[in-house]
Amino acid sequence: MPELPEVETTVRGLARYLERERIARVAVNRPDLRRAFPVELAQTLTGATVIGLGRRAKYGLVHTDRLATLVFHLGMSGRWRIDPGEIGKHDHLVLETAAGHVLALCDPRRFGSVDLVDTARLDEWPGIAALGPEPLGPDFTPAHLERGLAGRAAPIKTLLLDQRIVAGLGNIYVCEALFRARIDPRKAAGKVSRPALDRLVPAIRAVLGEAIEAGGSTLRDYAQPSGQLGYFAERFDVYDREGVPCSCGSIVRRVVQGGRSTWFCAKCQR
Ligand SMILES: [Zn+2]
Repeated sequence: MPELPEVETTVRGLARYLERERIARVAVNRPDLRRAFPVELAQTLTGATVIGLGRRAKYGLVHTDRLATLVFHLGMSGRWRIDPGEIGKHDHLVLETAAGHVLALCDPRRFGSVDLVDTARLDEWPGIAALGPEPLGPDFTPAHLERGLAGRAAPIKTLLLDQRIVAGLGNIYVCEALFRARIDPRKAAGKVSRPALDRLVPAIRAVLGEAIEAGGSTLRDYAQPSGQLGYFAERFDVYDREGVPCSCGSIVRRVVQGGRSTWFCAKCQR
């Protein structure tokens, strides 16, 4: 599943082809993904100029000069194909720029979404309104976490996946960041010390930043029809490594929390 770093990498890849470009043609090849495409999608985007791109949590944002922003979510299996040789049956939305580049949103499982949102009121849009701060942004601080987690009995791992506390963090990066910060994922969130939170914030930023960096190095692959988003499994310390020795020599364990697997080292993480 595409996580925040993959979405960020995707947005940066799209920016190369869309920033300050005019969208000459739009093809909407089916009525819906997880929900219906906006009825005015093709009409609004055709002839529009892209004035900037961005990301909020796992939503990619394409701002146009029509006061509307295209908001896309990659769901489980979505990715943008750039200049594909031919349009495939899973290329549900296809944009062609005035410069002649073709950008196809391919989503075989169709858990993704595409919306058009009034750019000025983006922060009020339901998918975005309740989100906590961006983990890579200035508002995500140890003090913010301390306030958000105070008195909470739920495990720290579970609350880090709560989008209202911090936006866009997925299972992989929560497991990895807790390992780096040496925090037991089972610990009650309200009982995690301030020094531990002081380690956790930079650990979260580091694991996300490294993944984005690794994705950035494969950006040129986006020009290939077969281009994959790229996951960075070889870099994981604990994620999906049950039974494998940790660098300390102890064995990585797996537990299930809130229906999701958590991998951790009981010796390194206290
Ligand atoms: Zn260890």
